[in-house]
Amino acid sequence: MKSVCSFAFLFALSSLATLPMDFGSLEILGTSVAQASATQPVLNGILAAVQSQVSAGQIPVVLFDLDDTLFDSRSRTLPILLKFSSDPAMKARYPEETAVLSRLQLWDVHYDLATTLHVQGIDRADFSQQLSDFWTLHFFSNECENDHVIPLAPEYVRTLAQAGARIVYLTGRDRIRMGVGTRKALQGRGFPTRGLTLLLMKPNAQVADLEFKLSAFKWIGTQGKVVAVFENEPANLNAMKRAFPEAQSVFVDSIRSSRPEMPAAGTVWIRSFQ
Ligand SMILES: [Mg+2]
Repeated sequence: MKSVCSFAFLFALSSLATLPMDFGSLEILGTSVAQASATQPVLNGILAAVQSQVSAGQIPVVLFDLDDTLFDSRSRTLPILLKFSSDPAMKARYPEETAVLSRLQLWDVHYDLATTLHVQGIDRADFSQQLSDFWTLHFFSNECENDHVIPLAPEYVRTLAQAGARIVYLTGRDRIRMGVGTRKALQGRGFPTRGLTLLLMKPNAQVADLEFKLSAFKWIGTQGKVVAVFENEPANLNAMKRAFPEAQSVFVDSIRSSRPEMPAAGTVWIRSFQ
């Protein structure tokens, strides 16, 4: 067990040396602070913590997951399902199932593809397998370039960056399949991508998401004082909270896996950044 952990740690560290991606030049757009809502005290409190650290001469770090924290992954899945449903060969072979798929809306998409199909009453194993293969090929790809954002996420992250925070995007996406699309999505949707900003992606698909994130925490801690962490996956968020107990942990209550773990006590919940 020890040798496995050591290998994973060293592997990730060697990868991290090349992980922060050079975005080149991109203007940080003017920002407007998100409109007032129940979420605002949380977001304003983190902004105040950033400003306090900057005033003290420190580099505040704010960690953000990407999928279903800053980007809505359903907006990637839905076009994939619709594309599959419009394929003539699939329509001929599975007329009922493709007809159901073709009527799906964004809110019909769940975290797990199996759940999405089950809720729609689709239970043909051969159909599910073919769709799953098609979805996997397209979901874990640079089609993430077209992802929609969680409402007002770019505006808030820009606000933190302009206040002097080092923004760290820590994602379970891997560079090989999704690196180009991720960079384009961040830039295209107006997220900060220059200055102190870092993007940490898995070196390849074989590394488990949580394993990768755990291996990154120690290195991230050397980049400044982590004041807040944002995640939609409770297990990942709780690991962040253990790694950075002084940081405010924020659970983005969008969609998440079916794993039973829930956000730890002391975590605040938000649904968007508005
Ligand atoms: Mg996520």
